[in-house]
Amino acid sequence: MAVIGGGPAGSFFSYFLLQTATRVGLGLTVDIYEPRDFHVSGPAGCNMCGGVISETLVQHLATEGITLPETVVERGIDCYALHLDVGSVRIETPLHEKRIAAVHRGAGPRGIASPNPCGFDAFLLALAQSHGARHLRQRVESVNRAEGKPLVRAQGGASATYDLVAIATGVNGPSAKLVQSLGLPYREPPSTKTYICEFLLGRETVQATLGSAMHVFLPHLPRLEFAAIIPKGEFATLCVLGHDIDKAIIREFLELPEVRACMPPGWEPPVDLCHCSPRISTGPALIPYADRLVFVGDCGTTRLYKDGLGAAYRTAKAAAKTAIFHGVGARDFQQHFEPTCNSIAHDNWLGRLVFVVTRVIQHNRLLRRGLWRMVSREQGVSGAERRMSIVLWDTFTGSAPYREVVLRTLHPRFLLRFLWEIAAAGFERSTDWRTHASHAR
Ligand SMILES: Cc1cc2nc3c(=O)[nH]c(=O)nc-3n(C[C@H](O)[C@H](O)[C@H](O)COP(=O)(O)OP(=O)(O)OC[C@H]3O[C@@H](n4cnc5c(N)ncnc54)[C@H](O)[C@@H]3O)c2cc1C
Repeated sequence: MAVIGGGPAGSFFSYFLLQTATRVGLGLTVDIYEPRDFHVSGPAGCNMCGGVISETLVQHLATEGITLPETVVERGIDCYALHLDVGSVRIETPLHEKRIAAVHRGAGPRGIASPNPCGFDAFLLALAQSHGARHLRQRVESVNRAEGKPLVRAQGGASATYDLVAIATGVNGPSAKLVQSLGLPYREPPSTKTYICEFLLGRETVQATLGSAMHVFLPHLPRLEFAAIIPKGEFATLCVLGHDIDKAIIREFLELPEVRACMPPGWEPPVDLCHCSPRISTGPALIPYADRLVFVGDCGTTRLYKDGLGAAYRTAKAAAKTAIFHGVGARDFQQHFEPTCNSIAHDNWLGRLVFVVTRVIQHNRLLRRGLWRMVSREQGVSGAERRMSIVLWDTFTGSAPYREVVLRTLHPRFLLRFLWEIAAAGFERSTDWRTHASHAR
């Protein structure tokens, strides 16, 4: 078997394939083609991501017997702070059982004092290797067919045929180009440009200013869905998601008072920082399988804006189980792998609805004030009653399916409370206005 791409999806796929094969007494060899060296700091060793491992994925890994070593986890996230122009509020883990890890995907950003040889991708690749996978540090150029089997041609001309090829090249890789000559109905997922950069603040400053909180911003800026600052070791990672995020939006964002208030006093964005503009998937691929071929992770189906690593785990596991228990034909993948992709894709439709509503709130000051009032008031009450906090937590940490988020917002007590807080915010505003008017007189 060959796996093209040794990011999370490729490593998870190899791991599950080999682990399940051993259990059923099947002898397999797995070659992982991955040109990156995840032990190198900076862009060369990094797969460009916020590095937040959702609690669902942490729990799934724990049930598989995979514990993230302390060396991989740069920081445990136990709460988040929501920053709006009308105020900021700190939201503790609503149900007091949440565990989220912040990691580097490579060995750390450019400029890191001591590169971490055990970033998340290096850890997963080593896990797959420890189960017998062979890592070939080669970029694959094409996949063709020879006598009905996939023929993988790597850079430099070396080629080999395999019984099954899993493509896990992400949305920043050439998944469609690789299989171009096969004339498959596969279409790569639609995607949009995002922005990530790393601020070197020093361990103490990160602790003093950002703590163990993920800082989420919902600014009223065009094309920007949301942004997050994630503390890690001596760095803080800024992720900005939206539609075709460019430098002008980033500059505007970094000047916002709520962003500046979060950073150390007198802080200015450095000119030379480790940054990138990776693409993020915004929809599913079309037909992510064929005979002896399967597309896992981002180049197949992933979750909208959240928990892409969790989706890589789910699609990789489903594809590996299909290959071992059912077969490697297109029909096998259609029957046993596609349902997992469909369930993620259907949930993303609800995710779209969640982000439409979020955008409406973002663009209306009264709704923003209502939201802020509701979340602030909830911090004094017990777990399950913190309805808005749970909804926001699940939306921004990716800890629950969007279906659950939507169902929570349809609860009559949630809706009544939100309407009440909006009305109260409106009343507050009109009394503010009258006070201003009488002062002016
Ligand atoms: C701005 C941003 C922030 C994000 N934040 C988070 C987050 O906080 N938490 C989260 O869960 N998800 C997050 N994601 C999503 C997450 O990054 C992806 O879902 C995840 O990386 C998908 O894993 P993958 O293995 O499918 O692809 P990738 O991680 O992209 O890995 C693909 C691998 O394939 C290799 N490759 C490419 N082409 C070839 C080739 N021709 N031959 C051989 N190898 C090749 C690459 O070198 C790479 O190692 C974020 C994404 C973006 C854009």
